[in-house]
Amino acid sequence: MAVTLVWFRDDLRISDNPALVAAADSGDDVVACYVLDEETEGIRPLGGASRWWLHHSLSALGASLDQLGVPLVLRRGAAGDVIHRLVEDSGAHAVVWNRRYGLAERTADSSLKSSLTNRGVDATSYQANLLYEPWEVTSGSGQAYKVFTPFWRACLTFRTPRAPLAAPDSLSSPDGPGLDSDELPAWGLLPTEPDWAQGLRDTWTPGEAGAHERLDDFLDGAAQGYKNSRNLPAVHGTSMLSPHLRFGEISPFEVWHAAQDHKDSSTAEDIRVFGSELGWREFSWQLLYFNPELATVNYRPEFDAFTWESSTQAELEAWQRGRTGYPLIDAGMRQLWEIGWMHNRVRMATASFLIKNLMIDWRVGEKFFWDCLVDADAASNAASWQWVAGSGADASPYFRIFNPVLQSKKFDPKGDYLVRFVPELADAENVHEPWKGSAPGYPAPVVDLKESRERALSAYKALSES
Ligand code: FAD
Repeated sequence: MAVTLVWFRDDLRISDNPALVAAADSGDDVVACYVLDEETEGIRPLGGASRWWLHHSLSALGASLDQLGVPLVLRRGAAGDVIHRLVEDSGAHAVVWNRRYGLAERTADSSLKSSLTNRGVDATSYQANLLYEPWEVTSGSGQAYKVFTPFWRACLTFRTPRAPLAAPDSLSSPDGPGLDSDELPAWGLLPTEPDWAQGLRDTWTPGEAGAHERLDDFLDGAAQGYKNSRNLPAVHGTSMLSPHLRFGEISPFEVWHAAQDHKDSSTAEDIRVFGSELGWREFSWQLLYFNPELATVNYRPEFDAFTWESSTQAELEAWQRGRTGYPLIDAGMRQLWEIGWMHNRVRMATASFLIKNLMIDWRVGEKFFWDCLVDADAASNAASWQWVAGSGADASPYFRIFNPVLQSKKFDPKGDYLVRFVPELADAENVHEPWKGSAPGYPAPVVDLKESRERALSAYKALSES
């Protein structure tokens, strides 16, 4: 019986998985594999929280594939070499995978495709993880859009996202002893000493079933009123699907269609706004596709001349540990530490504080988030940090400096979010401005908001005049 090898990457699901469907439809025996690639040059190693997620996601995928009759083979190494070895071991005549869009990933995939083809092995890739391929909907000049609204309008006019594909009912596996596979725990993806993952375990269920549960909960609950409640960090007002989308445990096509099917006259506007958030994910990937160095190089080169003040290590650590003396910033950074995720509004405020009030290079923040977020995404993280810095596409202007006190008064007026993540504020006389009264155990502000704002504005002015 002929064998097709399915190579799973950022698509850890069995439903709406075009590569898996193609293998099932071929009638071949199927071998499924995942390669932990920490060797191919340019592929960014996962951060700690993402490694935790990957472990559990692979474990869930393995269980789903077992039910379909196919074990998940785990191997480690430079993926190009490992896939060739798997082709030899399995005798596969074809390899299928779903596309990735980072430059290093694309380079590795296209060189693998050529070497497989040269060897007489069919190699086919599919669109699975973005609603629109980054090159499909470009600006008039064939480049990436610079502004989100026309990009997203053009996408929606270009094509309605295709319907999701059903998971195969069953797969056939080659007879015989099965291929050698690493043991997942031996990859050491989970933290041990210390084990900082308790909050992650309490919050998340990595894997396809967990992803669909999140989607259903969202559509039955927070979707109604999403347009407003998505701004309130104390409320469970967003889908929390980001890590599931990041690891491809659910596809954007599944999310898109489930949301559209759920739409009625009372939720139409909420669903439109939710759809446009998926659009920001698409926009970020188009930016990364056309600007592969988005995580390290200013999208707007004029920002290269910006002089970052060298803030002290103590200030950076205060930000990282949620001890800046500004409740919204501290609650956000502690939420990040506790559950590996932070509310979007608070991500904007904490990033603005690092970049503008502490005047620390956005790349330092991008890296820290990369390590701590369970949804750390090469495109969305880089694009969002540059958006806040003002150096990105369609960016928030540099002079827009989030005031953490006004933000918490407006979006968390009772301080519920603040106290949830900074419990010592429960006894503060003034939860939004604790320095104005007694706040036992809570630090004094690391910088003065007004002075640091003026310092940032004058640095920006100097840049725009240079
Ligand atoms: P929902 O509001 O339910 O939105 C649905 C989905 O749309 C999300 O799951 C996500 O895939 C996408 N989405 C929503 N907002 C954005 C956005 N602004 N940009 C891109 N996609 C979006 N998002 C990531 O997925 N990974 C990151 O590494 C990441 N880093 C960020 C860093 C900073 C500094 C900022 C300001 C934002 C970052 N975001 C990132 C975007 C956004 O904060 C998260 O996508 C969102 O908070 C995830 O929560 P949710 O799933 O409940 O979102």
